Amino acid sequence: MKNRNEMTDVHDKFTRSYNMSRIKGSDTKPELTVRRFLYAKGLRYRLNVKKLPGTPDLVFARYKAVVFVHGCFWHAHKGCRYFKLPVTRRDWWKEKLEGTKKRDQEAIEELQRLGWRVAVIWECQLKGKQKGEHLTRLYQWVKNQKNEKFL
Ligand SMILES: [Zn+2]
Repeated sequence: MKNRNEMTDVHDKFTRSYNMSRIKGSDTKPELTVRRFLYAKGLRYRLNVKKLPGTPDLVFARYKAVVFVHGCFWHAHKGCRYFKLPVTRRDWWKEKLEGTKKRDQEAIEELQRLGWRVAVIWECQLKGKQKGEHLTRLYQWVKNQKNEKFL
Protein backbone atom coordinates (compact mmCIF):
# COMPACT_ATOMS: atom_id res chain seq x y z
CA MET A 1 0.00 0.00 0.00
CA LYS A 2 2.80 2.38 -0.83
CA ASN A 3 1.14 4.53 -3.37
CA ARG A 4 -2.21 5.88 -2.31
CA ASN A 5 -2.87 7.63 -5.59
CA GLU A 6 -2.58 4.36 -7.37
CA MET A 7 -5.15 2.85 -5.07
CA THR A 8 -7.47 5.79 -5.54
CA ASP A 9 -7.32 5.38 -9.28
CA VAL A 10 -8.22 1.76 -9.43
CA HIS A 11 -10.80 1.43 -6.69
CA ASP A 12 -14.31 2.60 -6.33
CA LYS A 13 -15.48 4.24 -3.17
CA PHE A 14 -16.67 1.01 -1.62
CA THR A 15 -13.39 -0.83 -2.04
CA ARG A 16 -11.49 2.19 -0.76
CA SER A 17 -13.41 2.37 2.45
CA TYR A 18 -12.87 -1.35 2.89
CA ASN A 19 -9.16 -0.90 2.31
CA MET A 20 -8.95 1.91 4.82
CA SER A 21 -10.65 -0.25 7.43
CA ARG A 22 -8.11 -2.95 6.77
CA ILE A 23 -5.22 -0.55 7.08
CA LYS A 24 -6.51 0.77 10.36
CA GLY A 25 -7.04 -2.79 11.52
CA SER A 26 -10.62 -2.09 12.41
CA ASP A 27 -13.68 -4.06 11.38
CA THR A 28 -14.80 -3.73 7.82
CA LYS A 29 -18.31 -2.82 6.86
CA PRO A 30 -19.08 -6.24 5.32
CA GLU A 31 -17.91 -7.95 8.51
CA LEU A 32 -20.14 -5.74 10.62
CA THR A 33 -23.08 -6.42 8.33
CA VAL A 34 -22.68 -10.16 8.81
CA ARG A 35 -22.12 -9.93 12.54
CA ARG A 36 -25.10 -7.68 13.17
CA PHE A 37 -27.40 -9.88 11.13
CA LEU A 38 -26.38 -13.14 12.78
CA TYR A 39 -26.33 -11.62 16.26
CA ALA A 40 -29.85 -10.28 15.78
CA LYS A 41 -30.87 -13.80 14.80
CA GLY A 42 -29.56 -15.05 18.12
CA LEU A 43 -26.27 -16.62 17.04
CA ARG A 44 -23.22 -16.07 19.18
CA TYR A 45 -19.67 -16.31 17.94
CA ARG A 46 -16.06 -15.54 18.57
CA LEU A 47 -14.20 -13.10 16.35
CA ASN A 48 -10.87 -13.38 14.53
CA VAL A 49 -9.77 -16.58 16.18
CA LYS A 50 -6.03 -16.63 15.65
CA LYS A 51 -5.64 -20.18 16.88
CA LEU A 52 -7.48 -21.51 13.83
CA PRO A 53 -6.00 -21.64 10.33
CA GLY A 54 -6.57 -18.43 8.39
CA THR A 55 -7.93 -16.59 11.47
CA PRO A 56 -11.62 -16.97 10.64
CA ASP A 57 -13.67 -13.79 11.02
CA LEU A 58 -16.47 -15.57 12.88
CA VAL A 59 -16.33 -18.86 14.76
CA PHE A 60 -19.45 -20.73 15.86
CA ALA A 61 -17.99 -23.35 18.13
CA ARG A 62 -21.24 -25.11 19.00
CA TYR A 63 -22.11 -25.47 15.34
CA LYS A 64 -18.55 -26.40 14.41
CA ALA A 65 -18.67 -23.70 11.74
CA VAL A 66 -16.48 -20.80 10.71
CA VAL A 67 -17.22 -17.91 8.40
CA PHE A 68 -14.85 -15.80 6.38
CA VAL A 69 -16.05 -12.44 5.11
CA HIS A 70 -13.88 -11.74 2.11
CA GLY A 71 -13.24 -8.42 0.46
CA CYS A 72 -13.54 -8.90 -3.28
CA PHE A 73 -10.37 -7.04 -4.11
CA TRP A 74 -8.03 -8.41 -1.47
CA HIS A 75 -9.18 -11.96 -1.99
CA ALA A 76 -9.31 -11.65 -5.77
CA HIS A 77 -12.95 -12.65 -6.24
CA LYS A 78 -12.99 -14.30 -9.63
CA GLY A 79 -15.39 -12.83 -12.15
CA CYS A 80 -16.55 -10.18 -9.69
CA ARG A 81 -17.10 -6.61 -10.77
CA TYR A 82 -15.34 -5.38 -7.64
CA PHE A 83 -12.21 -7.20 -8.53
CA LYS A 84 -10.00 -5.64 -11.13
CA LEU A 85 -6.27 -6.11 -11.25
CA PRO A 86 -4.63 -2.69 -10.97
CA VAL A 87 -3.09 -1.40 -14.18
CA THR A 88 0.14 -0.23 -12.59
CA ARG A 89 2.52 -2.72 -10.99
CA ARG A 90 0.33 -5.41 -12.42
CA ASP A 91 2.72 -8.31 -11.89
CA TRP A 92 3.37 -7.30 -8.31
CA TRP A 93 -0.35 -7.20 -7.56
CA LYS A 94 -0.98 -10.42 -9.40
CA GLU A 95 1.62 -12.25 -7.35
CA LYS A 96 0.43 -10.70 -4.10
CA LEU A 97 -3.23 -11.51 -4.68
CA GLU A 98 -2.54 -15.00 -5.95
CA GLY A 99 -0.56 -15.58 -2.76
CA THR A 100 -3.56 -14.50 -0.71
CA LYS A 101 -5.87 -16.77 -2.68
CA LYS A 102 -3.56 -19.70 -2.18
CA ARG A 103 -3.37 -19.08 1.57
CA ASP A 104 -7.16 -18.77 1.71
CA GLN A 105 -7.54 -22.14 0.05
CA GLU A 106 -4.98 -23.79 2.30
CA ALA A 107 -6.69 -22.40 5.39
CA ILE A 108 -10.06 -23.75 4.23
CA GLU A 109 -8.64 -27.21 3.59
CA GLU A 110 -6.86 -27.25 6.93
CA LEU A 111 -10.01 -26.19 8.77
CA GLN A 112 -12.00 -28.90 7.04
CA ARG A 113 -9.38 -31.45 7.99
CA LEU A 114 -9.85 -30.33 11.59
CA GLY A 115 -13.55 -31.00 11.26
CA TRP A 116 -14.83 -27.45 10.78
CA ARG A 117 -17.46 -26.47 8.29
CA VAL A 118 -16.30 -23.43 6.34
CA ALA A 119 -18.31 -20.69 4.67
CA VAL A 120 -16.99 -17.78 2.64
CA ILE A 121 -19.28 -14.84 2.09
CA TRP A 122 -18.14 -12.13 -0.28
CA GLU A 123 -18.33 -8.39 0.06
CA CYS A 124 -20.33 -8.18 -3.19
CA GLN A 125 -22.96 -10.57 -1.80
CA LEU A 126 -23.57 -8.11 1.01
CA LYS A 127 -24.53 -5.29 -1.30
CA GLY A 128 -27.68 -4.59 -3.21
CA LYS A 129 -30.93 -6.47 -3.50
CA GLN A 130 -29.55 -9.92 -2.80
CA LYS A 131 -28.00 -9.02 0.53
CA GLY A 132 -30.86 -10.33 2.68
CA GLU A 133 -31.05 -13.56 0.74
CA HIS A 134 -27.34 -14.29 1.17
CA LEU A 135 -27.43 -13.46 4.87
CA THR A 136 -30.42 -15.69 5.44
CA ARG A 137 -28.74 -18.50 3.56
CA LEU A 138 -25.62 -18.05 5.71
CA TYR A 139 -27.68 -18.11 8.90
CA GLN A 140 -29.37 -21.33 7.83
CA TRP A 141 -26.07 -22.84 6.84
CA VAL A 142 -24.61 -22.18 10.31
CA LYS A 143 -27.68 -23.53 12.07
CA ASN A 144 -28.52 -26.64 10.12
CA GLN A 145 -25.16 -28.30 10.75
CA LYS A 146 -25.22 -30.32 7.60
CA ASN A 147 -22.03 -30.59 5.71
CA GLU A 148 -23.29 -28.77 2.66
CA LYS A 149 -21.08 -26.29 0.89
CA PHE A 150 -21.34 -22.57 1.30
CA LEU A 151 -18.66 -21.18 -0.93
ZN1 LIG B 1 -17.16 -10.16 -5.28
